[in-house]
Amino acid sequence: MGTKFKLLFIVTVMLLGLAVATIINVSLNFRDYSIKSATEKATTTAAIVKDGLTAHMVNGMMDKRQYFLDQISNNNSDVKSLWLVRAPSVIKQYGPGFNSETVRDQTDKNVLDSGKIIKTIHEGADSIILRVSIPYKATTSQPNCLECHDIKRDGILGVISMEFDITNMRNVGMITIFKILIINLIFIVIALFLINHYVAPYMKLFASMQEGITKAYSGDFTHKFFTNVKGEARQITEQLNTLFTKMQETFGNIKYNLSTFIPQGCVASKDPLFEAKTIIGELSDIYKFKKTIELDIDKETVYKRFVDAMEHKFELYSFAFYEINHVINERKLIFSSENKKLCSVNVDKNANLCRAFRTQADVISTDFMELCEECSKVDDFYVCIPFTINDDYSVVLNIHAKDDAQVNEIHIITPSIRNYLEAAKPVIESRILTAKLRDSSLRDGMTGLYNRRFLEEFIDQMMSQADRKNDTYAVLMLDVDFFKMVNDTYGHDIGDKVIVELSGVLKANTRESDLAIRYGGEEFLVMLYNATEEGALGVAKKIHKAFCALSFDVGTSERLKKTISIGMSRYPTDADSIWKAIKYADTALYEAKNTGRNKIVEFKPEMFKAGDDF
Ligand code: GH3
Ligand code: MG
Ligand code: MG
Repeated sequence: MGTKFKLLFIVTVMLLGLAVATIINVSLNFRDYSIKSATEKATTTAAIVKDGLTAHMVNGMMDKRQYFLDQISNNNSDVKSLWLVRAPSVIKQYGPGFNSETVRDQTDKNVLDSGKIIKTIHEGADSIILRVSIPYKATTSQPNCLECHDIKRDGILGVISMEFDITNMRNVGMITIFKILIINLIFIVIALFLINHYVAPYMKLFASMQEGITKAYSGDFTHKFFTNVKGEARQITEQLNTLFTKMQETFGNIKYNLSTFIPQGCVASKDPLFEAKTIIGELSDIYKFKKTIELDIDKETVYKRFVDAMEHKFELYSFAFYEINHVINERKLIFSSENKKLCSVNVDKNANLCRAFRTQADVISTDFMELCEECSKVDDFYVCIPFTINDDYSVVLNIHAKDDAQVNEIHIITPSIRNYLEAAKPVIESRILTAKLRDSSLRDGMTGLYNRRFLEEFIDQMMSQADRKNDTYAVLMLDVDFFKMVNDTYGHDIGDKVIVELSGVLKANTRESDLAIRYGGEEFLVMLYNATEEGALGVAKKIHKAFCALSFDVGTSERLKKTISIGMSRYPTDADSIWKAIKYADTALYEAKNTGRNKIVEFKPEMFKAGDDF
């Protein structure tokens, strides 16, 4: 119910209540008044009858009393009947009197017995009768009743009974009440009309305000307020219109400006206030994220921060984050929640199997059944977000859900996730470039093996790690025999080819944990991690054999074959530092060169003369 109708209803109820209260009050008072005035009239009439009878008695005209009583009845239209009742003492002394002077009913008898006035009212549907019965008592003053009657003072001589018809009074009362009712109704109608007339415009304005504010809650400030009421109400309306116009313009501008910061529009809401708040929150979070990762030294740390954001900001608890190397078409797992397999491992060796990476579009399981063959092998509900970092690298975020509804929820936050990737992209790119530059300064360009600078930079780190974990290294120092002759005879190109081929042999015969370094021109260092003496010797022999088996095309009918010499030492068995072990391997190599070349020589302490410096 509208406020206006509520108000009108309340006023109507109040006025009706007032009318009913007035009517009840009037009718009760009217009834009392009617009875009271009838009773007074009856009492007066009874007194007249008593005085009249006394006069008749004194004048000896008691036989004419009926005429007197009839006159009273006839001259008073309200007196319906009037009769006398003789007391038993009077009947005993003077006889029963006229027929009508005997006890007519119980009321007559009660008045005779009690000597008290009795008034009764008989209300019927058609009429209302007041009955008054008054005792006629013997007096001793003028006239002295005791002179003629055998009775004591104040004894009951008789009863004067009368019936008054007061139906007319009731009707007058009813008419009065009806008039009051009509007046009240007219008053109510006028009151309602006036209220409606004066209050309705305010109610209309109130409703318009309510509508405008409701729209404003949902961010729509386009509502126009209007009122017919002059004065303060119109002023408020104009102020509200100005305020709403400003709000609409301001939030529109804020939204437009903010959307330039977040191009993908992570928030889809009709409420510009909510949208602005969300975008500012998002910008602030992304700004903090960006500020943090800008100080991180490598891409791995940036990846970790991204994973933290996924877990804590987006509350993703089942997801995997991968890096894809385009050059080698391989995928590397960076993070996986709960160490669960979230996507088929086949993709690791062939990144093109990843649909998201291949198509560069989000893969959402609800789009089509078994949309990505590899993901569907592991789970039914997923969203995969690909993101390109640069020409060589991409990342893929593989999020898992428990049902289709959750897939949709994830899909909704995808633009926000992309905002984070977008923020991280330049930092990751820069870290990749830095790592690449650093790697190139630590690698030999011709063979791709680490160079001597790498060794110098990381040797201390390797040593302390080896000491901590009781690791060992077998050190092989290799050098091509009579290499100068290759250059001199066939030229530097062929010489370079031999060097590259030797590096290939080293790569093929060492493990990931081993280190192969181009130490000098055609001199290489191999450090075998945690190898036994036999194992290390075995690797040296394999390298030696593999290189000696090679033959090089030198443009003539004969192919060139070369040999190498290898010196070997062990850390910490032979030397208490890696540098020393390298020096001892070099000593052993020198020994191999001096004792005929094309051989493997293990370091013996006697090879190293005291006084030789490292
Ligand atoms: P030895 O058996 O004693 O080792 O005799 P060698 O001729 O191999 O002597 P040595 O090891 O001292 O020879 C090093 C030569 O390697 C000298 C240099 O001209 C050549 N050299 C160094 N770096 C390169 C390179 O990058 N390319 C080519 N083609 N030759 C190189
Ligand atoms: Mg040599
Ligand atoms: Mg050499």
